[in-house]
Amino acid sequence: MNDGRALALTYLKQQRLLGGDAVILTARRPDGPTAKPAPPQPDAPADSAVWPSGRPPAGISFDPPSGDLFAADPVQQAGTLDAVATLVAECTKCKLCEARQHTVPGEGPASARLVVVGEGPGRTEDETGRPFVGKAGELLTKILGAIDFPREQVFICNVVKCRPPENRLPQYDEIAACVPYLFRQIELLKPAVILAMGGTAAQTLLNTKQSLGALRNQVHRFRGIPVIVTYHPAALLRNPNWKRPTWDDVRIARRILDS
Ligand code: URA
Ligand code: SF4
Repeated sequence: MNDGRALALTYLKQQRLLGGDAVILTARRPDGPTAKPAPPQPDAPADSAVWPSGRPPAGISFDPPSGDLFAADPVQQAGTLDAVATLVAECTKCKLCEARQHTVPGEGPASARLVVVGEGPGRTEDETGRPFVGKAGELLTKILGAIDFPREQVFICNVVKCRPPENRLPQYDEIAACVPYLFRQIELLKPAVILAMGGTAAQTLLNTKQSLGALRNQVHRFRGIPVIVTYHPAALLRNPNWKRPTWDDVRIARRILDS
């Protein structure tokens, strides 16, 4: 095999592993004996023509019990987003508290109809205490602009509220310790749509280990609220091929918000 083909193969394998688009190569002679029927495309564009209802089919529904006002847990008793942020600021429930400069609880208006959930703060976020303000954040702002959503109207937050060292993935115990804050924030916000960006957000909100690729193109639910799953902006910076499918995903979110 020549070098070019070997490289192309590696690339295609990586795409599949990372849950990227299926790559369909058109046969050179569409009517010739070598032509094969096109395989089904799990990541087909989010065109309303694809789904007669204008929406992708229903997916996972995750319904964790919501807060009990009589419970002693202060997270459940936090009555406002600011009260949640105050608890986060003092939190030492996992080892991510050790190296943080700032906690990053999330930000946006309490009236936000769209909530964006990422993975965890990066360096700039840790330095400033604000979510999505680095390079990935700039791209998120553009993605929201593409569906006419000024960032200021969106509540933007993460699964874990403190930066994992060297931006490693948050570990299972860290997510388990931190997730009550996210769940309480969503409970207070009652948004119309949640946009889960990246595998960590999607898997946490839907309580599944399924890959991002498998979770796209469905309308999942978290406590009844529609959840749309898409790529993480940091992944888009590494692989611009995923930008188009991401626009498709956010357009679905927009359509649900408009309906
Ligand atoms: N990546 C995230 O997941 N969240 C941020 O806030 C910034 C980068
Ligand atoms: Fe607390 Fe979450 Fe920070 Fe861990 S990541 S210390 S659980 S706020």
